[in-house]
Amino acid sequence: RVQERLELEDELRQALGKEQLALYFQPRVDLRTGRLAGAEALVRWRHPERGLLSPDSFVPLAEETGLIVALGREVLDMALAQVECWDRSGFVVPRVAVNVSPLQLRGGGLFEDVRNALRRAGVAASRLEVEVTETAALADRHRGSDVLAELRRLGVKVSLDDFGTGYASLAHLHELPVDAIKLDRAFLEQAPEYAARGGELAILKAVAALGKAIGVEVTAEGVENEEQLAQVIEAGCDSVQGFLVCQPVPPMLVQDAARRGLAVLERVRASRR
Ligand code: C2E
Ligand code: CA
Ligand code: CA
Repeated sequence: RVQERLELEDELRQALGKEQLALYFQPRVDLRTGRLAGAEALVRWRHPERGLLSPDSFVPLAEETGLIVALGREVLDMALAQVECWDRSGFVVPRVAVNVSPLQLRGGGLFEDVRNALRRAGVAASRLEVEVTETAALADRHRGSDVLAELRRLGVKVSLDDFGTGYASLAHLHELPVDAIKLDRAFLEQAPEYAARGGELAILKAVAALGKAIGVEVTAEGVENEEQLAQVIEAGCDSVQGFLVCQPVPPMLVQDAARRGLAVLERVRASRR
């Protein structure tokens, strides 16, 4: 296993800058307007021998070895180039979200990387969103480095990914420099355990209300079926992302996939009226 890991690390190092990384995009849909709110960029590795690899099989390795900083730069460039490309084709994706790992925040020069990437692509800062985990956002705060606050001043949107899985949670939420939270799909998955007591919807509702109270947008992630979508709507979440609406797809399929996803949303809404 050690041997294999070393090989993979070596291959990943070689792969960077060689057009082996690709981005898939998963649309996020606005529940108030019923429109496309944005799309999250999710990295894939087109490995010459192993085929298309999902991030779970190489992002942790990239984080441990520091390669994530270079990988993250490449992802930023690709995502912003894609926004520009969609714009030119007449398809407007309001905002593209990029996942940023703690190491990039921690002295990886994230602010400079973002500013340079925006300049290179000629895309406005307001078209970019960075997703960070609670742990990363808190660490940034405690160090007093405020990279996230700086990014927000630039006009980049900051969202808290996998909300509800870390420690920061409610107590720190109002102190963090974030515009949005993405509720982890664990809230939905645990359905059977507390759904029986009506607990699931109560928690969803409470978090959505909390978000409103402190002026933070709430996205529900990992919505896979119509019951979950109905719950998320009832809870008052602002937007939704998940397999029910749309799977992550290559850039050229995003427009069609988003159209189908919006139709699903419309149908579920109509059936509840
Ligand atoms: P994440 O940021 O929480 O991204 C969402 C993941 O959940 C994606 O997996 C997506 O395919 C999956 N997902 C979306 N909707 C559903 C659903 O309805 N049901 C279920 N079961 N899953 C759903 P993916 O693409 O494999 O990405 C996994 C993780 O890899 C991401 O989790 C993120 O933490 C990390 N990642 C992806 N791209 C990047 C990147 O460019 N940089 C960094 N640092 N991390 C990345
Ligand atoms: Ca994410
Ligand atoms: Ca997430």
